Amino acid sequence: MGLMSPEQYKDSLNDGRVLYYKGEKIEDVAQHSELSVCVESMAVDYHMAHDPKYKDLALVYDEKLGEDISRYFHVPRDGEDLVKMLDLIIEATRLGDGYIPLAHDIGADALNAISITAATMGNQDYIDRIENYRTFLKKEDLAVVAAVTCAKGDRLLRPSDAGQDNPDTYVRVVEKNEKGIIVRGAKAHISGAAYANEFFVIPCRAMTEADADYAVAFAIQANAKGIKQVARPVKTKIGPLEFPIERPVRVITDSLIIFDDVFVPWDRVFLCGEWQHAAMMVYNFAVMHRRTGSAYRIPLTEQFVGAAQAIAEYNGVDKVPHVREKMTDLVIYLETLKALARAACLDPVVHGGITVPNPVTTNIAKYHFAHNYHDVVKIIQDLAGGLLVTAPTYKDYQHPDLKEDIEKYLVGKAGIPTEHRLRMFDLIRRITRSELEAIVLHGEGSMQAERMTIYAEARKVIKECKKIAEDLAEIK
Ligand SMILES: Cc1cc2nc3c(=O)[nH]c(=O)nc-3n(C[C@H](O)[C@H](O)[C@H](O)COP(=O)(O)OP(=O)(O)OC[C@H]3O[C@@H](n4cnc5c(N)ncnc54)[C@H](O)[C@@H]3O)c2cc1C
Repeated sequence: MGLMSPEQYKDSLNDGRVLYYKGEKIEDVAQHSELSVCVESMAVDYHMAHDPKYKDLALVYDEKLGEDISRYFHVPRDGEDLVKMLDLIIEATRLGDGYIPLAHDIGADALNAISITAATMGNQDYIDRIENYRTFLKKEDLAVVAAVTCAKGDRLLRPSDAGQDNPDTYVRVVEKNEKGIIVRGAKAHISGAAYANEFFVIPCRAMTEADADYAVAFAIQANAKGIKQVARPVKTKIGPLEFPIERPVRVITDSLIIFDDVFVPWDRVFLCGEWQHAAMMVYNFAVMHRRTGSAYRIPLTEQFVGAAQAIAEYNGVDKVPHVREKMTDLVIYLETLKALARAACLDPVVHGGITVPNPVTTNIAKYHFAHNYHDVVKIIQDLAGGLLVTAPTYKDYQHPDLKEDIEKYLVGKAGIPTEHRLRMFDLIRRITRSELEAIVLHGEGSMQAERMTIYAEARKVIKECKKIAEDLAEIK
């Protein structure tokens, strides 16, 4: 079929999938009044692929197929490939106004993690299956997301522990036959799943021998029998109290996906019982996905810096020493994130024949963003002042009795229209809303997960540094 057009992508979603949203069963997600807005956000990837401006970034010529394919399905061979992918995700996120298109990037991280695991295991069946599936994705250009995080039940118990109230909070194999496997369980928070064509399902943690049934990875169509999704509610419109904007609202839902005895044919199964390899799969996914996550946050951070400077100027305080200091902190935050994300790509490691961003630097990049996020929001809220929460609304501003007074009394620096100030408050409220905090803290894994990886990966560096110190102290 080749590259999908945005229209083909939208049509492909009318496939009989079982999807619930705000307590309603949805017939055609691309036609739904609110979810169609999310579908449009997801379609950014497909628009980019067809825009000559992004050809070099979004597409790669595949020698074997003799055609252009989405860069996301290309196997990264070196640091330059990783940088191009980073730049592609940053650009796509910018076009999505800081929201993430997601049609391919998370899926690509899972695809590469599966390829690495198959190659490291040396399992020829799995190597062939994932290679065939990669070719299928290249040819069909499907929207594919990654279902990694299981519902998990009691976090301190293993999937198979008798103490878990429900043995199905982690996805597991309940039956195998000559045609394939039957799986049951639930994955939570799966971004973009409501309007993806396919899901990669991979384990979310290391497994023990007792958890072998939970060591399962596969690819499945969103409309497969037995799959039910519940998408979280999102705000797809600027509210009537905010100043209207012409640009489309960009937003994506995340789904709880229930697998109720779903059949998966063998050619789509990439791990089944090999519990020793579950950790490797999720580890490699996390490393690549934290590079992806760092790329998502760069456009959002640019918005933070821009909004902080704009409101400081509108308030007339941009030249004050403490404001300049705060702006400097914001720039350090942004530039550190950019530098770490790029450095991780330019100092890669090779796992199972695939080039992977440097694990320590990637985790530090994602951790840097999440760890300092609240301080950054605090700066923006401080610079904005109290009107951020108390300013009259757009409706008040429109009232003939009030407009003149609001313009007169809520004016900031001379020459800046009051409306600009009020519009900037609206934007700051949107980009610092509390809902974003969960995404920042938990998306791509919790901060503790990042710290654990940094420490585990940095042990070699720590040992080398200890040797330097001992040499200096002449300790033999
Ligand atoms: C907006 C959003 C989008 C997401 N998109 C996706 C997606 O597309 N695909 C996907 O697979 N996942 C996705 N996730 C899931 C994300 O990766 C998880 O939220 C993250 O891994 C944390 O898991 P959790 O939410 O279950 O929190 P929990 O695991 O419940 O963590 C809560 C706290 O408990 C701690 N904790 C948990 N277990 C232990 C333990 N055993 N020992 C000690 N402390 C522990 C954590 O460190 C954390 O502090 C998304 C999450 C969000 C918020």
